[in-house]
Amino acid sequence: MTENLSQLPFSFEERDGKKSRLPPPAVFRHAFTISCGMSARNFFALVTKHYVTHVVDTRIGRDYQGAYWSREDDFRYLCERHEVVYSVMEDVAPTREIRETFAKTFQEVRSAKDRSPDAWTVYLESYAELLRSRKVLREGSPLRAVVDGKDVAVAFVCACQHPLDCHRHALGQLFTRYVMDVELVDLTQVHLSSGPAPSRKSPRRILVRDIPFFGLQAERGKR
Ligand SMILES: [Zn+2]
Repeated sequence: MTENLSQLPFSFEERDGKKSRLPPPAVFRHAFTISCGMSARNFFALVTKHYVTHVVDTRIGRDYQGAYWSREDDFRYLCERHEVVYSVMEDVAPTREIRETFAKTFQEVRSAKDRSPDAWTVYLESYAELLRSRKVLREGSPLRAVVDGKDVAVAFVCACQHPLDCHRHALGQLFTRYVMDVELVDLTQVHLSSGPAPSRKSPRRILVRDIPFFGLQAERGKR
């Protein structure tokens, strides 16, 4: 695979020899994503079942009224009660500008046929550019602290129900893409025997172009 090494989310010197990835972490192995838009009971059932010891909140807004149990203070408290570390990582949250550009697509058009079909793709491309420019896996960064840390399993959290409607899946892909021997799993209610699968947002957020930085492929033939 040809790759522009200056585009890595860490410095060129840190990579594993000839490979453009970081060497396997000493402890960290499982990157999970979970929605905090589900019930607290289901959320912590998933956390417990998968031995998650660290929950990383990647939302821009953590105190809005509709968040119920997952408002930052309550979320932190519930994690403490479950003996799980809770931390906020603004370094990997999208920016309000990126989000507002995306939201305008829905506010300024009257019908679905007038809506730009690549709004979601532009959103994730902007997010990729943000993470790349911040070099989010650079030595000493908050995300790198997870890679170099003592937790085997870490969950990255946002409120969106479906992982493919959310930046958290793209973020998780960074581990698959740029860190050796780390597995990404998007946990949903499906991973609890009782739960139904979350539905995609309506209108669907469709990826119309590949985003190599995340190793994401366009969802062809689904529009
Ligand atoms: Zn989200």
